[in-house]
Amino acid sequence: MIHFARFAMVDWSGGNDTGPNPRKDAIWIAEAEARHPTQAQYQRNRLLAEETLATRIEAALSDRAPLLIGVDFPFGYPKGFARALTGADDVLSVWRWLADRIEDTPKQNNRWEVAGMINRSLGGGRGPFWGNGTKSDIPDLPRTKQGYANPFPDRRACETQAKGALTCWQLSGAGAVGSQTLTGLPVLERLRRRFPNKISVWPFEALDRPVAFVEIWPSLINAAVNAKCESLGSKAIKDEWQVRLMAEALAALPASDLHRMLDVHAPEEGWIFGLGHEAALLAALKPAPALSPPPLRNDCFAMPQGVDWVLVDDALSRLRLALVPVPDVESMRTAEAAGRVLAEDVHARRSNPPRANSAVDGYGFAAQTVGAGEQLLPLIAGRAAAGQPFDSVVPGGHAVRILTGAMIPDGVDAVVLEEDTATDGGRVAFHGPMKTGANTRRAGEDLEAGALVFGAGHRLRAPDLALLSAVGQGQVVVRRRLRVAVLSTGDEIVPAPDMPAKPHQIWDANRPMLLSLAESWGYHPIDLGHAPDDADEITARLDRGAAEADVILTSGGASMGDEDHVSALLRDRGSLTSWRIALKPGRPLALALWRGASVFGLPGNPVAALVCALVFARPALGVLAGGPWTQPQGFSVPAAFSKRKKPGRREYLRARLSGDGAAEVFASEGSGRISGLSWADGLVELPDREIEISPGTPVRYIPYASFGLT
Ligand code: AMP
Ligand code: MG
Repeated sequence: MIHFARFAMVDWSGGNDTGPNPRKDAIWIAEAEARHPTQAQYQRNRLLAEETLATRIEAALSDRAPLLIGVDFPFGYPKGFARALTGADDVLSVWRWLADRIEDTPKQNNRWEVAGMINRSLGGGRGPFWGNGTKSDIPDLPRTKQGYANPFPDRRACETQAKGALTCWQLSGAGAVGSQTLTGLPVLERLRRRFPNKISVWPFEALDRPVAFVEIWPSLINAAVNAKCESLGSKAIKDEWQVRLMAEALAALPASDLHRMLDVHAPEEGWIFGLGHEAALLAALKPAPALSPPPLRNDCFAMPQGVDWVLVDDALSRLRLALVPVPDVESMRTAEAAGRVLAEDVHARRSNPPRANSAVDGYGFAAQTVGAGEQLLPLIAGRAAAGQPFDSVVPGGHAVRILTGAMIPDGVDAVVLEEDTATDGGRVAFHGPMKTGANTRRAGEDLEAGALVFGAGHRLRAPDLALLSAVGQGQVVVRRRLRVAVLSTGDEIVPAPDMPAKPHQIWDANRPMLLSLAESWGYHPIDLGHAPDDADEITARLDRGAAEADVILTSGGASMGDEDHVSALLRDRGSLTSWRIALKPGRPLALALWRGASVFGLPGNPVAALVCALVFARPALGVLAGGPWTQPQGFSVPAAFSKRKKPGRREYLRARLSGDGAAEVFASEGSGRISGLSWADGLVELPDREIEISPGTPVRYIPYASFGLT
């Protein structure tokens, strides 16, 4: 959906231009735009109004400021009328039909006659239209409801909800809208023809053109209009204020509210914009609370007034409780399972080693047959080697040649190391005594058959594949690889550095960083590309992310500013759970759900985006992937810097170890300094409390590797 910048509201009139000016019941058009004064214009007749609207459309097109035009008469008729009149269900066919037949001049028009003509062909001259405001009788148009019969429903679906709305069949009498519709639709149709492909009609067409016609009903904001008129006294013209305030309400509505109100399915009859959302419309008109600057604080991370900050540890523990692993599991070959998370406990299928074997190259015998001092044992023929078992019993008082890894033959329970012996090929000499089990590995000394090898949730690393293989686990049941989608947002962002960038544009630095981070954490990265600061574009990409991924990492737009569409969307539609974390760098962090996918709205600054990803996204993704909650391993090292830190929030500094093992920090803490991220090998974590650091003060240094950043 297009993002509308201007809102022009029209109060239409089906009556003739009779003066005086300005008079009640003529036409008013008010146009509002955020941060501009609203203009209201009196239009003494429909011809002028049509020209004014055309001028406003031309201005919107040339200023590239999408314009929503609200008009206060029904765009459609009750069910069945369009087909009966034109043969098509399409409402716009009624618009065309009327435009081709209604003749309208400021002082005179043929609306009564056209209504009579319709009555004649569709309702035997008794309906659906009624009400004759003229002195003379009109053929087939009942003057009153006497004798009236309507072959169609009296009301559209929306009108059954709109308290006090009159039907479009009634052509005269106080507040009748029938004449407005008959005279108004041809005007709108002519404007559509004048600006082909520039205007969409709501809710029949997708709002993807620079101008939209939307049906409004100012009675929805009567409370505000009445209050305004009362405050102005007798000089107030209600029609004027109806359109002014309606225009102002739409201009003030958050885009997401506006889009929600426009998200209506009524393909045949149309709908009244804002019906059911009266409170939101009225709320948009409430004056903004008085503004006074906060007391000056020499700290841009000072917590804004009225904002609840969450300490890092609180946010982490909330996060930890809120997350459950994605459920899908699969079975795969152990050899291919590095980086995957076990979905089930794994037990040893066989002991390791399965049988006792020799830990060294040497000679084996029964320990109890060997005493203290010099020993000389006859060697029996043959040998035991790895993979070549000696398959007869070694008699007491004899020795057998044995190599590392060889299964210990029957009759042997100790091995003497080759280097401690002398041999002539028939005998072996060495010093006793020897202990039972010397230089042998006991069966099952590593793991007994049936023992727990790994619990579910264990993330398999290279050595784990060795152990699983050693105990005979050729297949493992693992979690499906977590799918992590990455989206960048911001009007200033150019997707890739091989594309041209104007001076006001910057290349997307976060996306390649976050995609690669996800991959090095063992997840399946999904590139959602880049979206400008536009709620619809972001919505579309979040929708795609939710369809294709388990988690979405966004960067940018996560704060509370005008252009922070990500947090606005998540707040409105994504059940935002927590945000504003007392953390530097990176306080804006949005955590939410979008159609079942977890969303981490990371800050736009690459430094803050990385820190938030490492501190929050990493443990959270670990849990979603089916693993345990992990904390990065840090080390206490002396500081090689001085710093005084205020209380109230945690800080992470880009750091690396100097030659003598002290933590140096990057010269600038500016969160736009991406080079500092590359300069560093890790982060120094400073506690929430106040702290004064001078060279030698112990600080917690967390290497990048502890965050899984390789
Ligand atoms: P935001 O969080 O959208 O207010 O952005 C904060 C800062 O980060 C702004 O200076 C943005 O230009 C910058 N920024 C946002 N996204 C990116 C990105 N993908 N790559 C580089 N810088 C970015
Ligand atoms: Mg931005």
